[in-house]
Amino acid sequence: MNSSKKNENAIIVGAGIGGLAAAIDLRLNNFEVSVFEKLDKPGGRCHQTVIDGFKFDTGPSMLMMKEELETLFEKAGRPVEDYLKIKRLDPHSCFHFADGRSLRFTSDRIKLKQEFEAFEKGAGDNIDRWLADQNLLYEVGMKQFIDRNSPNYLSALKPDNLSLLLKGMVTAPLYTSLGRYFQDQRLKDALAFSSLYIGLNPYNAPSIYNVLPCAELKKGLYFPEGGMYSIAEALTRLAQDIGVKIRCNTRVKGFSTEQDRLVNVLLEDGDRIECDLAVVNADLPEAYESILCEKHPLDKKFSYSCGAYLFFLGMEEIPKDLMHHQVFLPFSFETSMHQLFEENRVPDEPVFYLSCPTRTDSSLAPPGKHAVTILVPVPSRPLFDTTEGTTSGWTGIGNKLFSHIMKRLESANLSLDEKDVLFQIRMNPEEQGQRFGLKNDAAFGLSHRLSLMGPMRPRNKHHRIANLYFAGASTHPGNGIPMVIKSGRLVTQRILKDRMKEAI
Ligand SMILES: Cc1cc2nc3c(=O)[nH]c(=O)nc-3n(C[C@H](O)[C@H](O)[C@H](O)COP(=O)(O)OP(=O)(O)OC[C@H]3O[C@@H](n4cnc5c(N)ncnc54)[C@H](O)[C@@H]3O)c2cc1C
Repeated sequence: MNSSKKNENAIIVGAGIGGLAAAIDLRLNNFEVSVFEKLDKPGGRCHQTVIDGFKFDTGPSMLMMKEELETLFEKAGRPVEDYLKIKRLDPHSCFHFADGRSLRFTSDRIKLKQEFEAFEKGAGDNIDRWLADQNLLYEVGMKQFIDRNSPNYLSALKPDNLSLLLKGMVTAPLYTSLGRYFQDQRLKDALAFSSLYIGLNPYNAPSIYNVLPCAELKKGLYFPEGGMYSIAEALTRLAQDIGVKIRCNTRVKGFSTEQDRLVNVLLEDGDRIECDLAVVNADLPEAYESILCEKHPLDKKFSYSCGAYLFFLGMEEIPKDLMHHQVFLPFSFETSMHQLFEENRVPDEPVFYLSCPTRTDSSLAPPGKHAVTILVPVPSRPLFDTTEGTTSGWTGIGNKLFSHIMKRLESANLSLDEKDVLFQIRMNPEEQGQRFGLKNDAAFGLSHRLSLMGPMRPRNKHHRIANLYFAGASTHPGNGIPMVIKSGRLVTQRILKDRMKEAI
């Protein structure tokens, strides 16, 4: 472990992946670390529900950029394989278009080129060109915009960044940049789709989000044995093995401060815990409202990602062509996204993602059976009345979505036979919001639009309280397992830097 002058006492509020990563990083820098989690187990949105021997990951289902996770174990001097068995998936996923055609994403470059060429003459070479060009964005953009604590706007304007900015590789609309390589709408939709993984309208996304499909196609897509929740279990075990204390069923209700320094963390059960610093991993906008009882200075500029309506099906059998991951696109993806994000309503033809992880890991269901999860992006806090009993209540919406899904699967020749559905469980955005403490029930936290990116995203340090910090999806760099692991590392770097300044 590295040495830190004092053995300071750090408290982490929330045991989501970002909170666990921060706890591990701080412990490796000799802090005494205690994590308080309101739920009965760590993991936050990386959660798993077990029903009759079927295991359903209710949050993340895909692991990208697995090196972020591995680095954490390496830093702790523990082989990741002792904690987690990670499998590479290939092909990664399949996009089903409304005209009946489909496109597979794969890390095998020759096959990927064939897949693209089948849609458009020259697209095989163009996907090569696109991947090569995104390399610069991936390497420089990641280092300059994502992998560092940007102290201010000007710090983002370094010569390397400027060249990316001038080439329009960061801020230009995503579809404009894709249009330089591909004419076929289906190819552009498939590449732009990843923006929805962070709850952002692909048609309103900046081109920096080319890094998402680029990372997937270059570095591969992975899945851990036992499901995505194994990541939360592995990080919990690593944290405990190096001396982090984790207390579940313990809600933090507030802080007490003296002269703009945090002195105590107040627990709901009445305990007051002294601390030298705290890192809040609870969703940042919600934490400001319910723990700090104040408005974030950027509150008026905040906008939110979409929500997710989730279906979990225990299946006796599934069609043989269903893969681990697939996406079903509507006739007009643009119209569907406009209705979702701009009109704030459930689209007439919603896009949906279907995952069948038992294709990769049969232990996630009883022998011979399959676990199927379907995610439909929906408005997070809709303008319409979602009161139960009304036609626009979440149950009514769920019924409509399910019948749309069944029809769409039929049109893609991938029908789920109703007699094979052993049971169906649903989770609407409101239920997720309440369980995980998400402001506006936004599944992916604060939006990732340009005005809330990089130095414009809420910083990982409180604007006034000197020893209060943040880690997780709604602070820098953003949403997704690799990003929140980075947020744990970045907040630790900020804390260490602050400690050095204070020591001078
Ligand atoms: C449906 C869905 C699908 C997703 N798919 C993917 C995917 O495929 N791949 C991917 O990489 N990412 C995916 N994500 C995103 C990923 O799950 C999140 O970015 C990540 O898990 C968020 O981690 P976090 O550190 O922000 O903490 P969170 O998961 O938000 O956890 C915060 C924790 O704080 C706790 N807490 C809140 N308030 C208090 C309090 N007062 N006291 C104590 N504890 C408190 C909460 O209970 C929670 O456990 C998905 C997310 C969702 C919702």
